[in-house]
Amino acid sequence: MTSRSLTVLLATALCAACTCLDGGGGTGGGGEAGGGEGGGTGLDLDAGVHYGCSSETTLDEPLLNQVLAAADGPFPDGDSTVPIADGGCFRVQRTASGGALTHLALARYSGKLGYELVGTEVRFFEQPDLVPLDLRWSPGLTLKVDSDFDGFAEDQTTETLDATGLSKQENVRFSPSTKAVLRRSTMTRVNATTVHFKDERTVSGTLTTVADFDAAALQKQSGTCAFTGPLPNEPDQVVACPDEAAIRAQLLASLNQGITCMLGAGIDDVSRLINLRQQLSKVDITCFKNRGYAAAVDVSRPGGRIPLRYNADLGTCMMDFQLGTLFHELIHLIQGPHDSDLEHLLDQSMNVDAEQYAYLDRMRSCERLCFGTLKTRCACAVCFQTGACDQRCGRYNNCVKRVPNDAGMNVAVMSEAVAAVCQSDTSPGVGEVYKTMTECRSNCGAGSTCKSKSVSCDPNCQ
Ligand SMILES: [Zn+2]
Repeated sequence: MTSRSLTVLLATALCAACTCLDGGGGTGGGGEAGGGEGGGTGLDLDAGVHYGCSSETTLDEPLLNQVLAAADGPFPDGDSTVPIADGGCFRVQRTASGGALTHLALARYSGKLGYELVGTEVRFFEQPDLVPLDLRWSPGLTLKVDSDFDGFAEDQTTETLDATGLSKQENVRFSPSTKAVLRRSTMTRVNATTVHFKDERTVSGTLTTVADFDAAALQKQSGTCAFTGPLPNEPDQVVACPDEAAIRAQLLASLNQGITCMLGAGIDDVSRLINLRQQLSKVDITCFKNRGYAAAVDVSRPGGRIPLRYNADLGTCMMDFQLGTLFHELIHLIQGPHDSDLEHLLDQSMNVDAEQYAYLDRMRSCERLCFGTLKTRCACAVCFQTGACDQRCGRYNNCVKRVPNDAGMNVAVMSEAVAAVCQSDTSPGVGEVYKTMTECRSNCGAGSTCKSKSVSCDPNCQ
């Protein structure tokens, strides 16, 4: 028997069920189907019935904030559902075990019914017609995001855990139209101290490797305030944490501020950050003194934990820097390490300025965009992985920075061209940074290649 013939046969039973769909609790059957099209004459079980859900609702900030609130708990063990928006059409589904979530989903219920045969009895149940966000924590993590509500998840993340820790983390963005891979980053553990990172993008229709390097599993955030203790490059002095509860509160505050900021970009990284928000109890904080760096995180998550090193003098920094530093570390956990070759090159460079240093790295761009120290369209473009003309970046300042030259003329020293990097073909950690491709090409010698880091939407702005 097909579902359609069953539909016709059971139309009466179905109508009795559909009166309960408006969330009235199903007592007495007096509920209204609120604009339902079926009216008891052959409802289509496959297509579902819209009974008052708005087709306008999108995965926007208010909706996601409610998802976040529902993910905060407390939640009972087992399954629970929280209606959150659009008259209960959107619901957060949760499964918890031992006080921790094992599954979190945002589902849209538009009146679609499922059914099952139990003996000779047909039982109906509501079935989501769409699951725009689906997070499962066992085994490992799978995360699927369908931002455009078409039933296909354009953003997917898988994290594979083994006895040692995180062995593989893969973030994939698919084309919403062709479903081809547009972007893929893969981090794999090499050994206890090293990870491998590969970044692929579709360029002119071909999936191309744009970065492929080994990096330290421990990612350190440089920057210094009134730091004391050993000199940079000397071993850390391990100290008791000034106030671990306060550091944990800061960690959550930085994540919440970062999530609010990244909502401007879309749901993909936000959903990864929501995942991280559920994992904060796995963060093990140790404190140290060293004049060389502010904090560090081990992206390989040894033993399934998240070791965070916190400079005991970080409290001497401005609050934006304190929170931004913690958010920077957290982004490493969803986006992997810095490009180790480029970092080495930047460390050696004679030309790189502070804004270029930020724009040449996604973690730093997000940190400075979201924590207020560099709210420009270039930081937005790098953080959101888009072009500076993207309307999502339109609310931020222009990147062009002009300073007067000797003749009193204002000349641009920073633009959406950001930088052109001259990089040695055989030793990619060696090279120099320039403002434009023209400047780079006239200075970059044989055996090296200029690469544009432009975020401009104009192909001539490089
Ligand atoms: Zn970093």
